[in-house]
Amino acid sequence: MRMIPDKEPKTYDETPRVPMTEETLRAAMPDVTQDQADKFVKYYNLLLKWNAKVNLTRITLPEEVAQKHFADSVLGASLIPEGARVVDVGTGAGFPGVPLKIVRPDIELVLVDSLGKRINFLRELCGAIGVDAETIHARAEDAARDPKLREGFDIALSRAVAPMNILTELTLPFVKVGGASLMYKGSGAAEEIAASENAFRELNCAAEPIAFDVPWGARSIVAARKLAPTKKKYPRKAGFVEKAPL
Ligand code: SAM
Repeated sequence: MRMIPDKEPKTYDETPRVPMTEETLRAAMPDVTQDQADKFVKYYNLLLKWNAKVNLTRITLPEEVAQKHFADSVLGASLIPEGARVVDVGTGAGFPGVPLKIVRPDIELVLVDSLGKRINFLRELCGAIGVDAETIHARAEDAARDPKLREGFDIALSRAVAPMNILTELTLPFVKVGGASLMYKGSGAAEEIAASENAFRELNCAAEPIAFDVPWGARSIVAARKLAPTKKKYPRKAGFVEKAPL
């Protein structure tokens, strides 16, 4: 019988390494160009290499990475205007920002994460695959108060960072009036939207879910459109946002 470890493994690198073939990638992303396919395969190889020393992802099989990291990330591509300035908040190993930048090189991308080791990975990754993105090691609560970043983006992206009411406070301050926070969710976004009405009101935005059906499951992106500037008090200091969610 396999013993269940009682605490998190030191790294997530527990599955055998299987190389990602272009065929596997194209099964999930049939429309990529040759150059984009090469970048995604290199991304996979570096992700797995770094995952042996830094916790980046529990998803490691090539099919699953192609579907749940790469293809899921690019679902939002059609919601981003041409040449948009985009910030990915809590990007982790680069999702969804880096795959989006691979298929949409016209966007200007800033990647924010509070964990330095993940930022180090992203710097090496972007250099290795030739993706031009700025990386910022900071908590969203602090970065969103930097005058160079506050209300400086057309689009904020986020996936798997926090519940929607918290995420709205962490992402909307980065967005210009008229721009949007695109929050990637699985199915079940309706409940989260209902629980976030107060946050939407306080953060001056209107939210709309957009559904996507992919062969591996139902997905949605909630687009919170910014209607007026964010009050100066938001985002509150780290800790307060989670302890007393709007
Ligand atoms: N977005 C990636 C994805 O979908 O795979 C990563 C998700 S991971 C579960 C959450 C990430 O958000 C972690 O890398 C963590 O360090 C980062 N994070 C959590 N709270 C944050 C905050 N307040 N500011 C910046 N980064 C944060």
